[in-house]
Amino acid sequence: MIKKPRKIPLKILKLEALLRRLPSDHPKRNQLKEDLAKNKAGYNGEKAIDYHLLLLPDDKYTILHDIRIPHNNTHYFQIDSLIITPKYLLILEVKNINGSLHFDQTFHQLIRTINEGEEAFPDPILQVQRQTSQLRMWLEKHKFPSIPICSFVVISNPSTIIKAAPNKVVIHAASLPHKINKLDKFYTQDILTLKEIKKLSNLLTKQHQPLDQNILQHYHIPQTDIITGVYCPECFHISMIRKRGKWFCPQCLNLSRDTHIPSLKDYSFLIGKEITNQQAREFLNITSITVTKKLLLSSNLQYSGDKKGRKYKLIFPET
Ligand SMILES: [Zn+2]
Repeated sequence: MIKKPRKIPLKILKLEALLRRLPSDHPKRNQLKEDLAKNKAGYNGEKAIDYHLLLLPDDKYTILHDIRIPHNNTHYFQIDSLIITPKYLLILEVKNINGSLHFDQTFHQLIRTINEGEEAFPDPILQVQRQTSQLRMWLEKHKFPSIPICSFVVISNPSTIIKAAPNKVVIHAASLPHKINKLDKFYTQDILTLKEIKKLSNLLTKQHQPLDQNILQHYHIPQTDIITGVYCPECFHISMIRKRGKWFCPQCLNLSRDTHIPSLKDYSFLIGKEITNQQAREFLNITSITVTKKLLLSSNLQYSGDKKGRKYKLIFPET
């Protein structure tokens, strides 16, 4: 069963929000677009392996996708996919990199050759070794029985050529079910009970903390560079105009009622998770206090405080 499904990473949602709200000639646009492409390639690679994991019998494996668990006070360990079985745990580190890959175990780097150019990446084998020891320490700390932890670096792109890699660690996504079968035959002793598996997967899900960085600070972009207004979900024009209780797009003539909600989500991605009436007026380009109050209340947001100090929590059911 999939205990924790994969969701679109916050970083992608934040980069998309930032890109739609920066002027077309903004100096940071190219860097942001490159970072968005890299993050999307990573996410697509992870989604691609899900297809192969679906071939596994549902009742035998508990799968947690994309977990980020506190290791100590300042550090976290992140795992693309963790498969829990009664006999062993399996860590998958997914790489969506095309070209020819050479896993250099002398200098611990991954070298990709494409179109006669070479590019180096951090060594994913070292990465899974680190994840394994961090997970082992975490299991000990939480008093789980000692259980074998296996790991694979999974290459999600079927056309990627794996040139030199240490035996059995680096695999193509399509061979995942077969490799898992082999592990099942190798590890024969039940170590975790069903109850312990449930406890383990619940605790990992509970401790998961998605990376939530302040994106404006991260890219050194002042908040004043952000274009305010309600964006049109059809053509992405900013901004829509409020007309007789609805939002109207002057570019594609789209007319809708709740279009301020995606823009409030942009505010939560870029600026903060709470918003006052004044901040909402400034961000959505609305002049009326009453209209803004009505919109915020009708968006079913929780709030605290009263009158001018009232703060609405920008937490939406599907995010
Ligand atoms: Zn439009």
